[in-house]
Amino acid sequence: MTAIIPDLIRKKRDGQEHTREELETLVLGYTRGDVPDYQMSAWLMAVFLRGMAEQETADLTMVMAESGDLMNLGDLPRTVDKHSTGGVGDKTSLILTPMLAALGLTVAKMSGRGLAHTGGTIDKLESIPGWTSELEEEQFLTQAREIGLALVGQSKDLAPADGKLYALRDVTATVDCLPLIASSIMSKKLASGAHTVVLDVKVGAGAFMRTLDAGRGLARAMVDIGNRAGRQVRAVLTDMDTPLGHMAGNSLEVLEALATLRGQGPHDLTELCVALAVEALAAQGEDEAAAEARARATLTDGSALAKFRAFIAAQGGDATYMDDISKFDVAPGRADVTAPEAGFVAGIDALSVGRAVLVLGGGRERKGEAIDHGVGVELLRKPGEAVQAGEPVLRIYHRDGRGLDAATRLLTEGLTLSAQTPAPEALILDRVF
Ligand code: URA
Repeated sequence: MTAIIPDLIRKKRDGQEHTREELETLVLGYTRGDVPDYQMSAWLMAVFLRGMAEQETADLTMVMAESGDLMNLGDLPRTVDKHSTGGVGDKTSLILTPMLAALGLTVAKMSGRGLAHTGGTIDKLESIPGWTSELEEEQFLTQAREIGLALVGQSKDLAPADGKLYALRDVTATVDCLPLIASSIMSKKLASGAHTVVLDVKVGAGAFMRTLDAGRGLARAMVDIGNRAGRQVRAVLTDMDTPLGHMAGNSLEVLEALATLRGQGPHDLTELCVALAVEALAAQGEDEAAAEARARATLTDGSALAKFRAFIAAQGGDATYMDDISKFDVAPGRADVTAPEAGFVAGIDALSVGRAVLVLGGGRERKGEAIDHGVGVELLRKPGEAVQAGEPVLRIYHRDGRGLDAATRLLTEGLTLSAQTPAPEALILDRVF
């Protein structure tokens, strides 16, 4: 088998297109351990330099999706999944998924933990004592049918080819490659089984895709892959120069999500959740204007909050936290980053905020590390707002000073003021479907 691998590497090196069978030879061979790291590394670099055609990318995605278990959501009605390409302060899934359940859709979803500067939904939900992401398949499906919302941790058996390839890409400078990112994300979405997928493609300083054009390219590729596999996929491109909402850090983000589910959330976060819910409903054939009104109503009539509460309780979480938010463990230490002069907030760099949460202990550098759910950063002011000299702009929640100096430095560097009112930046930059 390995005898033909050099021919396949050569083919990609010379810019030619692989057949599905060739991709199976490479990817399934690698997953089984028959193709060694050095050959796969050479092939990944050839893909990085030469790219992949549309059909080829779709074939690669299917081969990766079919490298392990395929989740069978069976007869669950109107299944929908959501994916964000990773942001700072992005607690959208905590709000959107109960909204979708309240709208009559079924969310039976796998979620990840945070790594490096981006947070993960599972870490955030674990701020609620007792809540677990470990569900047996039968409980997962029953809960999804009864409540419309169930969430489990990423299974190792789901698209195992992606897990192995991602680890290799990470150490061979081949992560930031459009067909490899698109196939990696979509292989997991296709294997997870939902009929409709809404994608939140982040663009900006805190995101994989730094420019709108690059973000559009990734969104287009993922929508095309999904459509070729018979799924309804829609993407919104959203700004990730600045963190979403006001809170970054696990417990703090759950508190902000609860406020949003009560109709009292920050404007940007609320609008993004409504926009994603509209995409999910529109993908299933609903009229967009009616969908928007229905989606907004779930945040003011208590229906999304009721779904969230039922979901938390079903997965072992202490639902009394929903009624008494003072129970959440928020780190007691406080320190503010203040404006050095009067002016307007021009930018709060998302990457700096993400890294600040990390050094405070709220994130992990390596898989498996324990985290402190109570630490984080609050944006007291958002870009566009006026500040006086010495006024607090960012608040740090720390535990006994751990990481405080480094976090203060990161946040101070990430804060930009300007003398004039900065031009307002749109949160939702484009849609692709
Ligand atoms: N997220 C993924 O799952 N895969 C990538 O390649 C990049 C982001």
